[in-house]
Order: sequence, then C-alpha cells, then structure tokens
Amino acid sequence: MKTIQIMCVMVVACCTALSSMGAPTSVRCKYCGTEAQSARALLSSPCPKHPAGFAKGKHALFEGQTREVYTCVYCGQTAKSMRTLVSSPCPKHPAGFAKGRHSAYEGTEKSTYTCKYCGQTASSMRALVSSRCPKHPDGFAKGWHTPAR
Ligand SMILES: [Zn+2]
Ligand SMILES: [Zn+2]
Ligand SMILES: [Zn+2]
Repeated sequence: MKTIQIMCVMVVACCTALSSMGAPTSVRCKYCGTEAQSARALLSSPCPKHPAGFAKGKHALFEGQTREVYTCVYCGQTAKSMRTLVSSPCPKHPAGFAKGRHSAYEGTEKSTYTCKYCGQTASSMRALVSSRCPKHPDGFAKGWHTPAR
C-alpha cells in the first residue's frame, strides 16, 4: 500500500515537471520561426528566410529555450514571438543596416550580459549591443559587442 502511494507521488511530480517546462515539444527554425514536431522534419525542408536567400538552404535549429519574449542578439529588439522577431530587418545586422533580419538570442536570460569578444558587461542585451566593440573580429569598433550565451 505504501509503495503505491509513493509511486503516485512520483508520477504527479513527474507530470508537474513536464508541464512547467512549457508543454510543446516542438522545435523551431532560428531564421524564420517555423515550428515543427521534430528536428528531423524541420532540418529537411528549405527555409524561406535562409541568410543565403529564399530557400537557398534548410531551416536551422533554434537552440535556445521557448520563452515569452525573444530578444535580437544584434540590436536588443524584443518580440513576443520568434516569428515576429525574425520577420523584420535588423538595423544592426552584422552585414550592415537592415542587410538581414533580427536573430533571436539563443542563450539563457541573465542579469548580466557579457560580450564574447572583449568581456564588456551590461545589465541588458540592448545596453550591451548599443556600443561598438574594440575587439570585434572585423577590427577595432567595426561592429557591436556581441553577447556570449
Ligand atoms: Zn526557417
Ligand atoms: Zn536586431
Ligand atoms: Zn565587445
């Protein structure tokens, strides 16, 4: 009898853990926000917003978590859905002003964001990416600070 009780508790705990993870087990493309039930399905079809051009490559897996607000890793712009975020051009795209779309940050939310090139820190992503990086790979101040994951 006692064993059954323990098992029930374990099942409930397990279900709670699963639902708190945010139910959908779907995966999404980091270029266009398209969702699919499996990474295999997603990665085998062409992406309309591939960086190389329309359907010039496959969807790519977004490695971040499902969250309530998505933040652009280049400019700090936020949007409620990834699809919304990645559908508009980014003023701070590495290729130049509006030369590409916003790209959702794949790291975890932090109280302090650190530039992966120079170690500069800021309390928000927008603050970090608002100034140019002295150690940018393209050269001194040739690009903005870029948050590490
Ligand atoms: Zn895609
Ligand atoms: Zn952006
Ligand atoms: Zn930097």
